[in-house]
Amino acid sequence: MKRQIKIGNVSIGGNAPVRVESMLKVPLSQKEKCVEQCERLLREGCELARVALPSADLAEVLAWLNERTSLPLMADVHFDPEIAVAAMKAGCGSIRINPGNMPLRNLTEMTRIAKEREVVIRIGANGGSLSARQLASAEGDRAAALFLAVKEQADLLLEHDFQNIILSAKSSSVGDTVRANTFIAQAYPHLPLHIGVTEAGPGDGGVVKSAVGIAALLEQGIGDTLRVSLTDEPEREVRVGYEILKALGRRARGGDLISCPTCGRRRADVRKLVALIEPMLSDLPDGTTVAVMGCEVNGPKEAKGAHLGIAGTPTGAVLFKEGVVLGEYELETLPKILPEFFSGTIKSNQIR
Ligand code: SF4
Repeated sequence: MKRQIKIGNVSIGGNAPVRVESMLKVPLSQKEKCVEQCERLLREGCELARVALPSADLAEVLAWLNERTSLPLMADVHFDPEIAVAAMKAGCGSIRINPGNMPLRNLTEMTRIAKEREVVIRIGANGGSLSARQLASAEGDRAAALFLAVKEQADLLLEHDFQNIILSAKSSSVGDTVRANTFIAQAYPHLPLHIGVTEAGPGDGGVVKSAVGIAALLEQGIGDTLRVSLTDEPEREVRVGYEILKALGRRARGGDLISCPTCGRRRADVRKLVALIEPMLSDLPDGTTVAVMGCEVNGPKEAKGAHLGIAGTPTGAVLFKEGVVLGEYELETLPKILPEFFSGTIKSNQIR
């Protein structure tokens, strides 16, 4: 059985759901903006956010931020063990260290303090920061080097009887990410794993890379917490993270949209309808399916099978709720009617 650990009130591993994480993209020096970003991330369902902590003197700001948000924060520390110690002493419940730039000799004291304060340590290797020694030890195999980099630090922490560990190995290569994590999961089946494809990039490419890598791991039962690393707002990372989990049937969050790609048969402007509907999805109960179909070919059956459905007809659109036809509506009335349809307050006299 995998060990379950807790960061704030969020449990990770064991029988907990796969958690969705992000990272603050404003520096700690902009305190108020950090608070605002935390609040926006919480609204999207973010469950843990990493925060770059580039120097020990900012640990107090991290503590200040911790007091102002309910979003659990993980201090992201590189190079200097004193920064990790400062974060823990300032009350931060979790730190991430990078085995590519945090020497092994520094871990003993760090582990002692983490144990004393019940801090979680994430050992997070990144393909871009592997040392020459780590690459050489794996004969240039970057996935194996990621695994070995994580292994030497994990083994040291375990030797000190420290178990509050999350492991992570990321690469911008989907293949290396999947292989490295497969090695880690085989070697440490009892420890929680954080997964993601690092530096996945912007837009469609970044989303696809992340989805492919994360799904390949989740489908093997690997991964207890994830981050989608996009060159974009962190809120989008969280939304895409949930979409991946929804697509795999692992978690539900708000409404789940089923919409046809449209073709020459379409009777309704599906893109327009989807644009109207999408902002309302997050307010729907988790797991509510909403089908928007362009015509009567597949439309009525898909729409009937969904909790809420809209199917285009020659003159407008038919609305379905739990398989029951509410009525047919003229297209121009839909923008007004849809909010009431989704909130369940639609009135029968609106039915044409
Ligand atoms: S539901 Fe109708 S409009 Fe949409 S893709 Fe299928 S045939 Fe085309």
